[in-house]
Amino acid sequence: MIEPLAEMRNVERRFRVGGGLFGSGRDLRAVNGVSLTIRSGEALGIVGESGCGKSTLARMLLGLLAPSAGEIFVAGRPVASLGARALARCVQPVFQDPYSSLNPRRTVGAIIAAPLVVHRMGDAAQRRAEVERLMSLVGLPPRLYLSYPGQLSGGQRQRVAIARALIMRPKMVICDEPTSALDVSVQSQILNLLGDLQQTFGLTYILISHNLAVVEHIATRVAVMYLGRIVEENETEALFRTPRHPYTKALLASVLTPEPGLGVPDTGLGLAFPNPLDPPSGCTFHPRCPEAGPRCRASVPRDVRAGEALVTCHLYDGGTSVAA
Ligand code: SF4
Repeated sequence: MIEPLAEMRNVERRFRVGGGLFGSGRDLRAVNGVSLTIRSGEALGIVGESGCGKSTLARMLLGLLAPSAGEIFVAGRPVASLGARALARCVQPVFQDPYSSLNPRRTVGAIIAAPLVVHRMGDAAQRRAEVERLMSLVGLPPRLYLSYPGQLSGGQRQRVAIARALIMRPKMVICDEPTSALDVSVQSQILNLLGDLQQTFGLTYILISHNLAVVEHIATRVAVMYLGRIVEENETEALFRTPRHPYTKALLASVLTPEPGLGVPDTGLGLAFPNPLDPPSGCTFHPRCPEAGPRCRASVPRDVRAGEALVTCHLYDGGTSVAA
């Protein structure tokens, strides 16, 4: 049994939207009752369209957002009880856009060393040696130590972001759309690098993407999100071989889109993504689902589990096997 490194138990996150000075506004339920276990050493892909709640999930695991309900544990402790340094040693982010996530006025060396400085770790010589070691591991030539982000290519900037994430030697790295701002030719280099670094450091990954083809590259398990809920979860190979949920099937069809980065096309999905402030009744996927029936409009499907597989769909709620 592989030990869980992080765990979410029935987590919700609501945002108050609108209302102005006198109105009360409305709740947007970005994450709605998510339970998820992240095991040490695995690479978990979280996939779904923009607005499905996957980035909110990541920000809660990073301690940047508190859940509105439910519990989050990292390394066996409630995330809120971990101090900043302990949390930084457990989990670090790599964000989507290396253009905006790097300070343009700081050198590469200073950016990568920043977490060590913030947490007062090592002296200047030790920090420089560690930065140079990481630059070498992520494929950045030493001559770039004094360069600024504006002098680097997109791929080099993302390598800087990865080195900065690893300098605290975290157990887990959350990569939020790590390749979607990059040229297609560079995307696979960065994914290969992430795979190599996982072996070198024994890392656990959470890889967030709108594109199943990206997570297939390194994820060992995939969770598919739709409007704040996980609607399907399985080992990667099984999910690709036998997708169950109609939304997963549509996402897999979208993998064939000739232009990565454009998001999920409407292939098989019909209507556009619904307004999260006014979600559809019953199964929230029903207005777009080619297999929807009367029950789908009336009642919310429950989670149906079998071993590693989970699917949240009425089609599997009558004894139909969800096992791989
Ligand atoms: Fe489609 Fe119904 Fe399943 Fe929802 S519950 S995914 S609408 S078949």
